[in-house]
Amino acid sequence: MTSSILRFSNDAEISQAIETCRQTYKAGYTRPLKFRRHQLEQLWRLLDDNVEQIIDAIYKDLHKHRNETCLGELFPSKEEINDALEHLEEWAKDEYIEPSLINKYGVTCLVRKEPKGAALIVSPWNYPVFLTFGPLAGAMAAGCTAVVKPSELAPHTAKLLTELFPRYLDSRAYIIVNGAAHETTKLLEHKWDHIFYTGNGTVAKIIMKAASQHLTPLTLELGGKSPAVIDENANMLVAARRIAFGKTFNAGQTCVAPDYLLLTQKGEEKFIPVFKKVLIEMFGTNPQNSPDYARVINNRHWHRLMKVLNENQSGEVVIGGQSDEKDLYIAPTVVLNVDREDKLMEDEIFGPLLPVIRVADVDDAIEYINSKDDPLSLYIFSDNKKFSKKVIDHTRSGAVSVNECLLHVTEGHLPFGGIGSSGMGNYHGKKSFDAFTHERSAMIKTTNPVFEAALAVRYAPYTKNNLRLARVFLESVPRFKRNFVWRHIKWIVIALIFGIGYKRLA
Ligand code: NAD
Repeated sequence: MTSSILRFSNDAEISQAIETCRQTYKAGYTRPLKFRRHQLEQLWRLLDDNVEQIIDAIYKDLHKHRNETCLGELFPSKEEINDALEHLEEWAKDEYIEPSLINKYGVTCLVRKEPKGAALIVSPWNYPVFLTFGPLAGAMAAGCTAVVKPSELAPHTAKLLTELFPRYLDSRAYIIVNGAAHETTKLLEHKWDHIFYTGNGTVAKIIMKAASQHLTPLTLELGGKSPAVIDENANMLVAARRIAFGKTFNAGQTCVAPDYLLLTQKGEEKFIPVFKKVLIEMFGTNPQNSPDYARVINNRHWHRLMKVLNENQSGEVVIGGQSDEKDLYIAPTVVLNVDREDKLMEDEIFGPLLPVIRVADVDDAIEYINSKDDPLSLYIFSDNKKFSKKVIDHTRSGAVSVNECLLHVTEGHLPFGGIGSSGMGNYHGKKSFDAFTHERSAMIKTTNPVFEAALAVRYAPYTKNNLRLARVFLESVPRFKRNFVWRHIKWIVIALIFGIGYKRLA
């Protein structure tokens, strides 16, 4: 199948891509750090050499302003690659472990960081570059090969990446497969060593079911309704500006966009007028005319959003509400006094609609958050540490951010991922490397007869004395039970063991 812009891969190409990736991994091409480093450098060059083409493709797909593409796609992708380049040797080196007493001498214990193998990366349309390059940088750094399946809903970007990949990257190791559900289903029929999926929860269940057939490990980066709790005494100007940024960036089509607000009536009275003013400052009185405001990805999502807005039985649109189907435009829209059970509060909004739920106090806000699925992010706006701590201590979410929106995603050293229905596993920085790495434990022992004698207590024929001696080494004593005599008696026992061992082996 083919969309008007993007040619989808056929079954033969899909099988070939999988086979190539698997064979390349088996041949060991991607293992040497020199190879990984070179490919990461090439990935960085791909982005750096083609900035204008990437900005243009994403604009065609999402009407994203170049600043948004730089801030939300290019800069964070380059950061991820650069971080991997900076730390590759450190992340990939063997980790030596201090052995326990029984293995103290004549043994080396270490954790080898081995690539998991051939990985499948399935990415979504909303940040079509960052959400492809982020996981790919992790797979490359870890020494994996990868088949990448970009979203067909951002076809200009997928097409551009399909052209650029073979020009910059080793085509034996990193291959793009294009397509929609049929092509992804084909990919999922095969055995992978890791699947990294970013997208919605419904497809995540399909992916997980397919992965379970081969017991393939998974990373699932999903979404959810991320709340923003605003203290009625918060700095409303700062809160309004940061929430406006979080909700209008990519027209709200961000997995960590604030989905809804929780405010007391007093808080609403303070926040709403400031928010209105801030939106005008950012996009003028008619955001449709602003070059800085993105559009909804496609007709289906536009209708989905309008349906949710129109079927909303409660609440009052106090800001925005305008829309234009031909332009896929929906204004930043605030709906006040939304009923807790209303349509707007059912699924993740993933667009520029912002319902406000009125709460009695912070306890009421916490209770409401906890009545819903675990969100990917939780935002708190307050200068009162007790307020923030209370919300953080009594809720769960993939991440929490105080007095900020979205930016925790750009901090490469903070693990990024969900909990419960918002996802499984995490990545960014070293965590991306870890996601594609198998930590292989290794114990390497000497055959020296002295150490063999010391360990002879484990061999049959079993005796009570051997068990007593083994206990000393194998059954650790908790700190509260340790005393001076116990600590010193161990050395006496060591001497005894050596004596008995020698006697037995003689
Ligand atoms: P999407 O429609 O582009 O789908 C994601 C991928 O799944 C695509 O590559 C698509 O081809 C594939 N796919 C679609 N239907 C399929 C099927 N039936 N079988 C197999 N594969 C299929 O993107 P989306 O899911 O609409 O993305 C939006 C969702 O993703 C939101 O819920 C958002 O919160 C979440 N998201 C999460 C993150 C994160 O990092 N946690 C980032 C972005 C988006």
